[in-house]
Amino acid sequence: MGPSAGAPSMAVDKGNVRAAALLFAATCFFALAFSIRFIKQFFMNPKRKKSCYLNTETKPQYAFKRVLADSSYSQFKHLKLDTADSHSNEEYSNLHPYKGEISKLMKNPNVGFLEFLDGCEKGNLEMGGSYTSVETEPQLRELVEVLSHERVFAVDTEQHSFRSFLGFTALIQISTISQDYLVDTIILHDVMGLLRPVFANPGICKVFHGADNDVLWLQRDFHIYVVNLFDTAKACDILSKPQRSLAYLLETYCGVATNKLLQREDWRQRPLPEEMIQYARTDAHYLLYIACCLCLELKQQKNENSSPGDKLHFLLEASRRSNATCLQLFQKDIEVFPGELAASSIVSRCLNDQGNVPSSLCDTKFQEHVRRLCLWRDVMARLHDESLRFVLSENAVIALAAKTPTTETDIHSIISEADLDVESSTLVPIQSPSPVVCFHFEDLIFLLQGNTTNLDNMFQQFIQQHLGPNGSCPLSAYNYALLSKTSLGLANGSSSNRNRFRASKQVSKKASRELFVQKFSCKSPVYHNCKIYANDGRLLCYCDRRKLEWYLNRNLAKLVEHNPASIMLLFEPKGRPEDEDNDFYIQSKKNICVGCGEGNHYLRYRIIPSCYRMHFPEHLKSHRSHDIVLLCVDCHEIAHAAAEKYKRQVAAEFGIPLFVRKVVDFDKTHNVPASSSPVGSSEEIGVSPLHLRTAAMALLRHGPEMPPQRREELMQSFKQIVKTYYGGREISDEDLERALLIGMTPHERRRFEKKRGYVFKHLKRESNTGANASKGETLDSSYTYATEAVEKQDYDDSVMVEDAEVSTQPSLSNIEPFTADISESGNLLNEMTGPSNVRDTSLKHESKLSLLGHGPHGKQVVEHLLKEYGDDGVREFCQRWRQVFVEALHPRFLPAGWDVMHSGKRDFGEFSVYKPTKKASGTAVSR
Ligand code: AMP
Ligand code: ZN
Ligand code: MN
Repeated sequence: MGPSAGAPSMAVDKGNVRAAALLFAATCFFALAFSIRFIKQFFMNPKRKKSCYLNTETKPQYAFKRVLADSSYSQFKHLKLDTADSHSNEEYSNLHPYKGEISKLMKNPNVGFLEFLDGCEKGNLEMGGSYTSVETEPQLRELVEVLSHERVFAVDTEQHSFRSFLGFTALIQISTISQDYLVDTIILHDVMGLLRPVFANPGICKVFHGADNDVLWLQRDFHIYVVNLFDTAKACDILSKPQRSLAYLLETYCGVATNKLLQREDWRQRPLPEEMIQYARTDAHYLLYIACCLCLELKQQKNENSSPGDKLHFLLEASRRSNATCLQLFQKDIEVFPGELAASSIVSRCLNDQGNVPSSLCDTKFQEHVRRLCLWRDVMARLHDESLRFVLSENAVIALAAKTPTTETDIHSIISEADLDVESSTLVPIQSPSPVVCFHFEDLIFLLQGNTTNLDNMFQQFIQQHLGPNGSCPLSAYNYALLSKTSLGLANGSSSNRNRFRASKQVSKKASRELFVQKFSCKSPVYHNCKIYANDGRLLCYCDRRKLEWYLNRNLAKLVEHNPASIMLLFEPKGRPEDEDNDFYIQSKKNICVGCGEGNHYLRYRIIPSCYRMHFPEHLKSHRSHDIVLLCVDCHEIAHAAAEKYKRQVAAEFGIPLFVRKVVDFDKTHNVPASSSPVGSSEEIGVSPLHLRTAAMALLRHGPEMPPQRREELMQSFKQIVKTYYGGREISDEDLERALLIGMTPHERRRFEKKRGYVFKHLKRESNTGANASKGETLDSSYTYATEAVEKQDYDDSVMVEDAEVSTQPSLSNIEPFTADISESGNLLNEMTGPSNVRDTSLKHESKLSLLGHGPHGKQVVEHLLKEYGDDGVREFCQRWRQVFVEALHPRFLPAGWDVMHSGKRDFGEFSVYKPTKKASGTAVSR
């Protein structure tokens, strides 16, 4: 079974790699076992229920195959049209596909439909007994045909949002002048895109009342975008009507009363009760007539400024404002950490509302419990596709956090008591506690126990326990991406592959580029053998056998080909390759180069160079995963070169050089006569830190037995360098060791000792640690900067002298083998390597300010940005780096939601129902 004799070196390599992989795996195993001991003990409890209410209950949305807005934490992908300029950078941002058309309409409104509406007569206004239900695809096609010949039609939608995380459209009412249509958008969910063209057609006016939400809902569920809208509520605003509600307009213009309470009914019901059908029809049927009346008024409206010529002035303004509504884009609320916004809203509510909650409860323990509960609620709502308030009401969160029950019975009674006075915002009956709670009591008991597990761990564990390979809750199109995002289980099933990367790391650092590529690109073919098809037969991705089995074992797919094995998914994945960068595509092909799609090898690449990033304030670092991407070696080189070039530009722009030019021994500087300004003296005294280190090392190595004659000269010049550093005095071995440590970070020093096997024998360990530490401080004030930033050789932040000496090859020094686990903020690797390493990243950053790297430059730049422009300065700076990256590489495979403008904050319109604070505080969607 051994490798052929012709490839002995390969055999050795493989052996090493395997051994290292094993070691790594073992380390991980123990670390993991240790760090999640609590959770494991708890979840492995055999008494634990392994069932979920969703195994017996069906929800209408579970029949949807094409789910555009899933409940994962990734951003919504909007429709992408093939436009001429789609090769521009805009391709990568989430833009409105009809922005151009809508902007045109806003400048030049199309009110041609008015002539048509002028014919509106009150005579045939009555809503007769007949309407058309649209429940089949042929019927829908027929409707599309009818609408495509209309100049104008009226629209309203009904939503369901209680038993769904993001909500979904349950009914669309469409009325033409001659007919009312009720479109069953539950049964027709997957084919609703058929209506896209008529809604996007600027020649057909769509009349809505208060379209702000409908516009977003249509995008969310069907990628339907409204172009050419006339919003009767906007017309009311312009006409300064005493009220702008539809009920008022119906009453005033049509003499029709409507019971708006019905909007809160459960619109998922089938068949719809007669009363609800009448209500739904009413909402659209009269809209064309009302629009007609309002248009006439708008045309007649005059003000002092309007000339007789612009009698359309107000009408045009109404049209302009309406179309401005259409420019909105649906976005998911993205939080830094799941449940965070709700938690802080609840806590602040408690703090402001001390009448209800004793102030003693607003202590840190209470707040910690609120955070945990909100995290759990968020995760559970997403993975069961339920609204937050269905899972656990705010009152229940507060009561649980305050009383910390420890038994099922107590939890049960505390929740039902807390919900006694909750008024439902929908008329869907409230179950308290919800089945989510009742079937997953153990979670609540666990998180209310005062153990010390961090929230990240908890998050990962909840997902894994419920949705992972042995999870208790069913997988669906809604929560599928949630699982993949957590890098547990299926998404990156190939852990051996991961280990192989890791093990090769040491080798790769020293390897030439060719060797490097070769090492990383020779992947076992197993990885690419299997194919996954969508249920329409289109190829979605390649993967390994384990992944196929994962789907097959769960009846999520059927086997369609044998050699190589290929499966067809039985559910509709979120998105297709042709949607380019949607989630499913990315997660299934996650391990590819975002630049060119290369899948054989890939490396982590930091878009924001770490010499800057490590100095960012903590709260601006949280979007790490966004700015770490995978690149193949070739793309990596391109991106890296562009980044280095841009660094030099930054250095010039800010007047902050990339390298520390000279160092002097601070202890001795007071002996140097009259050069109080280090800058002024920089050209005269001191030596470059690189030279100093190289010299010190050479002398320490060869000091005892002096080298042959011809190298004597070299040694003398080395000696001169070190002497210069010490102000010209004679130097001892201790001085040499001290010089070696100049500007070396503790991290570098450890690496140095380990790698070079060097023991600092002349310096006492403690004293030199201390010396080094204080040196760090003093160096800050004594190192001086060169005015010209660019030096010939280019060293990465953490590159050692000896690495630098051999790095005449393109610098691959910031390459790190990709471990899929690190891709998200919940850093699994950290968890796996145990508590001691959890803070590793920040420690590394603290200690990374090597004088040989760009650290000091980065530090100064970031300090400058923060001082001059605050956080926004840093955000803008990041955007510049993303721009550099995109321009250098034109990456075609960036993950969903990746955005040059990514800010870590979302902008929500002041009145948007999607404003996080509103949602978080549980405010009902109201009009
Ligand atoms: P409408 O067009 O006014 O019938 O409202 C459309 C949808 O918005 C309804 O189906 C509800 O899902 C939602 N909605 C509007 N107002 C409320 C409210 N006050 N409470 C709950 N849901 C509402
Ligand atoms: Zn469940
Ligand atoms: Mn309605």
